[in-house]
Amino acid sequence: MELLNSIKKTMGGESKPPQVATEKKVEATKETKPVANKIKLGHVHMSGCTGCLVSVADNYLGFIKILDDYADLVYSLTLADVRHIPEMDVALVEGSVCIQDHESVEDIKETRKKAKVVVALGSCASYGNITRFCRGGQHNQPQHESFLPIGDLIDVDVYIPGCPPSPELIRNVTVMAYLLLQGNEEQKALAGRYLKPLMDLAKRSTTGCFCDLMNDVINQGLCIGCGTCAASCPVRAITHEFGKPQGQRDLCIKCGSCYGACPRSFFNFDVIPEFEAISEMIAGVLK
Ligand code: SF4
Ligand code: SF4
Repeated sequence: MELLNSIKKTMGGESKPPQVATEKKVEATKETKPVANKIKLGHVHMSGCTGCLVSVADNYLGFIKILDDYADLVYSLTLADVRHIPEMDVALVEGSVCIQDHESVEDIKETRKKAKVVVALGSCASYGNITRFCRGGQHNQPQHESFLPIGDLIDVDVYIPGCPPSPELIRNVTVMAYLLLQGNEEQKALAGRYLKPLMDLAKRSTTGCFCDLMNDVINQGLCIGCGTCAASCPVRAITHEFGKPQGQRDLCIKCGSCYGACPRSFFNFDVIPEFEAISEMIAGVLK
């Protein structure tokens, strides 16, 4: 018997009781905090820089709270070891698509087949952004020359423009997608109203540029000179002359942020008056 005990000790048999105790502790935590009806969330990385995923993570404990209570991260090549695109409720797609890369084209088509809601996360997925300037000719894939926003290859449900997109907007869209899929009728209606402008953006265009402000705001007599466009431009391509925005074409990276931020591009009277209620609801969800 003494020999048996000594062999168990040498082989690590002694460590078993604490392990059992740990398992019991985990079970106990699960019982005190039941989690049901989580949605399946995925991050699909196309031709992007991972900055959009960093923006997701920049929600800090808010992101952890979402993963605790509202969404399971079922796919993310950066964060989890799942190799193939699974069924998802919401796919956050980052980056544009290189149409000379067969695998990328197949991946985006597969994403559309597997996801109930496809979100273009960031300006590369929405508008092409900096990849609009790709011309190929670089080693070791000189033929990789054409990059398209995902909306040119598949139907996209929601846009979250921005380079990078704001962490708050990503958080809000994720919470609203949860309410849309799992909420009661009232919550579903509110989530639908919240998401509508971002769905309208997805229907509107796959190109983003300072010229959107020129064509659809300034030249329509809608500009009020508020300066929001200049504040939203990540490369400071917009200055204000005589109270009106001027774009420097050579600096513009075609991210579409300025049009998305402009209060005269779309002004949703269904949502803006509910700003406080929406803010309180999101804060409550993340408590
Ligand atoms: S954000 Fe819109 S309304 Fe405001 S200055 Fe720019 S173009 Fe004009
Ligand atoms: S002007 Fe600035 S914000 Fe507007 S599309 Fe160009 S880079 Fe983006």
